[in-house]
Amino acid sequence: MRKQIVAGNWKMNNDYNEGVSLFSEIVNMVRDEKKGNQIAVICSPAIHLNSLAQLSSGIVKIGAQNCHQNENGAYTGEISAKMIKSTGAEYVIIGHSERRQYFAESNQLLAEKTITALANNLTPIFCIGETLDERNNGSYFNVIETQLEKGVFGLSAEDFGKVVLAYEPVWAIGTGLTATPEQAQDIHAFIRSKVEAKYGFNVADDTTILYGGSCNAKNAPDLFSQADIDGGLIGGASLKSRDFTDIVKALN
Ligand code: PEP
Repeated sequence: MRKQIVAGNWKMNNDYNEGVSLFSEIVNMVRDEKKGNQIAVICSPAIHLNSLAQLSSGIVKIGAQNCHQNENGAYTGEISAKMIKSTGAEYVIIGHSERRQYFAESNQLLAEKTITALANNLTPIFCIGETLDERNNGSYFNVIETQLEKGVFGLSAEDFGKVVLAYEPVWAIGTGLTATPEQAQDIHAFIRSKVEAKYGFNVADDTTILYGGSCNAKNAPDLFSQADIDGGLIGGASLKSRDFTDIVKALN
């Protein structure tokens, strides 16, 4: 059965003490809400990773928000996949639209990061999604297909099976403009059909595809009830323990 995941992305928020205290609240609240195949993850800034991993009791998994494509070396200020793994973290977000936009991360670079993350036994949460212009000019199916082809479709079926996908329309991130459940389902079904064409039915059926973009406790139940939406990647609402927990509760 396909895994259901709610992953919080704290972005560049919370100093060390704030992060530890918010995470402790989240662990305590999520403890009673998660069911069998459901996974809650917090992707924190790197300074928190090790402390959060110690506090998690396995109830909430830990992830980073980025990793470098190389194993190690003279890359001042960067963090390697191996370092992330050594903190106890298990996930890493790759290709978030803010990385693509502000740090000019290309599909090619993101493909390399994904390979490095997998080689270090981290689960990549690989983000794809169109901008507002691309939505309005109707090119969004092509954009998403290209992001998949260049970003993750070079992987073997075995490696691809370890990747979590996140559809995040850029126009919905941090804007309060959520995709409707129908709009999101439409794209998720398209993504799954492309995975099936590349890797076959079983891999596609097992692939967890998250929705991200102004997802909150109110709209999560409708989004998560769609056939091809397997949870969410949550920005703003992951900074409040009650909101994050209510989104985990919305997994069906
Ligand atoms: C995100 O940054 O991945 C995101 C989905 O943000 P928000 O929930 O704030 O729109």
